[in-house]
Amino acid sequence: MNIHEHQAKALLKEYGAPVAEGVAIFSADEAEAAAKSLPGPLYVVKSQIHAGGRGKGKFTELGPDAKGGVRLAKSVDEVVANVKEMLGNTLVTKQTGPAGKQVNRLYIEDGADIESELYLSILVDRETGRVAFVASTEGGMDIEAVAEETPEKIHTIVIDPDTGVTDADIVKLSDAFGLSGEARVDGGTLFPILYNAFVEKDMSLLEINPLIVMTDGHLRVLDAKVSFDGNAMFRHPDIAELRDLSEEDEKEIEASKWDLAYVALDGNIGCMVNGAGLAMSTMDIIKLYGEEPANFLDVGGGATAEKVTAAFKIITADPAVKGILVNIFGGIMRCDVIAEGVLKAVKEVGLEVPLVVRLEGTRVAEGQKMINESGLNVISANDLDDAAQKIVAAIKGA
Ligand code: GDP
Ligand code: MG
Repeated sequence: MNIHEHQAKALLKEYGAPVAEGVAIFSADEAEAAAKSLPGPLYVVKSQIHAGGRGKGKFTELGPDAKGGVRLAKSVDEVVANVKEMLGNTLVTKQTGPAGKQVNRLYIEDGADIESELYLSILVDRETGRVAFVASTEGGMDIEAVAEETPEKIHTIVIDPDTGVTDADIVKLSDAFGLSGEARVDGGTLFPILYNAFVEKDMSLLEINPLIVMTDGHLRVLDAKVSFDGNAMFRHPDIAELRDLSEEDEKEIEASKWDLAYVALDGNIGCMVNGAGLAMSTMDIIKLYGEEPANFLDVGGGATAEKVTAAFKIITADPAVKGILVNIFGGIMRCDVIAEGVLKAVKEVGLEVPLVVRLEGTRVAEGQKMINESGLNVISANDLDDAAQKIVAAIKGA
C-alpha cells in the first residue's frame, strides 16, 4: 500500500525526522490561507500523486512549455496562481505511464535553500534477507540513470536486525553521503529514526530522494515515498486509513474486497489461476506463445463459488481482455467449485470473448461435466501448454 508524500512526511515527523512545514490542500480556495500559514519567502507547490518524477513531469492539459508537477513560488500570489494552474489537471511522469494521473491534492511547503541533494532509501534486501539502506551522493531526480551509468556511486549498507542501526553503520552511511559538520551530526540522529519507522510501521520501501543538505548545513527530508507491506496493514489501522482509493486501479480495489491476489497488467488475456506459482507460469507461457497477460490472479486455495464469481467478473469487466484462460490445478481448491463460480459469473454478466478452461485435480470430472453441460462455448484444454496455445489462437482468430 502506498501513501502520499505529505502523509509520509507527517509520519516521519512524528518520529522526529527533519521535514519542512507544509499544508495539504484539495481546492484552490485553500491555497492562500495555506501559503500565509507558512514562513516564506520561498514556497513549494507539490502535486500529490502516487508516482515519482513529478518535478520533470508534464501536465497534459497545459502544453509542453508549462512548468512541471513540483514548482517553486516566491510569494503567496505565485502559490495561488500555480495552484489554480495545477489542481485538477493530469500529470504525466516517467512513473505514471502515458495516461498520467489526475492531481487532486497539492502540498504547499516551506521552501528550502539547497546546498546538495542526496539519495537515501531503505528497503528489504533480498540477497541478505535484511533491511538495508541505499545511499548515494547523486540525489535529485535521476537516480535510475545513476544506477545504470555509475553504479559505483550507490552504496548498500545492510542492517543487523538484532542491533538496529549501530554507530558503525552511522559512520558508513555518513561516509557514503560525504557528510560533514552539522549535517553529519544530524545524520547520526536521522538514520536510526528512519530505520525504526521502517521496521515499526512494516514499510516495504522508504525512499527519500532527495535528502538535502541545506545552505545552513542541516539535513532535511525533501521528498518521501513510502510503501507498506499490505499483509501487515491489519496491525496498523492508522496507516490503513491513509489509503487513497482514487490512486488505485478499480479492479484491484474490487479484488482486495474479496481478498483476491490480483494485479492488473497491460495485455489482452485474462487469467484465472489458483496458486501464485501456477499464476506466474501461466503468465510466462502466454508470453511464450506471443501474447500478453491482462492480469495476475491467484484465487487461492479453498475459495468459495462466490469468490470465484467475483474474480471472473473482475476479469470480464476489463475492456482490454480479448480472451480468458482459466487454469486450475485442484488441490485444496475443488474443480467443481471453480466451474460453479465461472458459470454463475457468465450467467450474470455474459461472455463475449473466447474462454479456455484447463482443469486438473480434485473433482475434475465433476467440474468438466458442469462446464460441458452448461451449453457455453468453452474450449477445453488438457494441459498448460495446450491451454496457452488454444487461447492465443482463439484471440488471434477473433
Ligand atoms: P519528484 O520530482 O517527484 O521526485 O519530487 P521532489 O519532491 O523530489 O522534487 C523535485 C525537485 O524539486 C527536487 O529534486 C528539488 O530540486 C526541487 N525542490 C523540491 N523542493 C524544493 C525546495 O524546498 N527548495 C528548492 N530550492 N528546490 C526544491
Ligand atoms: Mg523526488
